[in-house]
Amino acid sequence: MLTDRFFMPDIYLNDIYEITPEMLKDRGIKAVLLDIDNTLVTYDDPKPTESVLKWLDSLKNVGISAAFISNNHQERVELFNSDLKFFATWDSHKPSGKCYRAAMEFLGTDTTNTAVIGDQVFTDVWSAKRLGLFAILVKPIKDKTSLFFRSKRALEKPILRRYRKKHGEKKK
Ligand SMILES: [Mg+2]
Repeated sequence: MLTDRFFMPDIYLNDIYEITPEMLKDRGIKAVLLDIDNTLVTYDDPKPTESVLKWLDSLKNVGISAAFISNNHQERVELFNSDLKFFATWDSHKPSGKCYRAAMEFLGTDTTNTAVIGDQVFTDVWSAKRLGLFAILVKPIKDKTSLFFRSKRALEKPILRRYRKKHGEKKK
């Protein structure tokens, strides 16, 4: 499928905790550009949880840096980032690549050694693929039930089906 070039994740996992520092290092990844909502925490968590902090620490320990690229508003992102003080952007207009390019410039990485991690095909994965970055998709922690979100998830389904077919991933 032609569209897979833009929408097919390189890896599709159940959650961020399946992404290990070793896995990233083996692929030469030096920085991860992270979505926040439904990737790291739910929309209801204002701050990173203990397990998220531990996971971020495990990346830092092997020299992988991180930034937050969110489509959510400034207040949400700044509060979430208030202790970590990572490079972070809000109202990022994903799938626009602008904020990703700014983050790579800040972190001193490029398209060959940077990965995007997010829960949405049409924002996170699309952004990554149009810039040529490594795209890791995780399952949303807790989905919104609005019609808009349900429609987006419905559109993701054929792509994820093709991913499973290609990689033989079993459904959880
Ligand atoms: Mg998200």
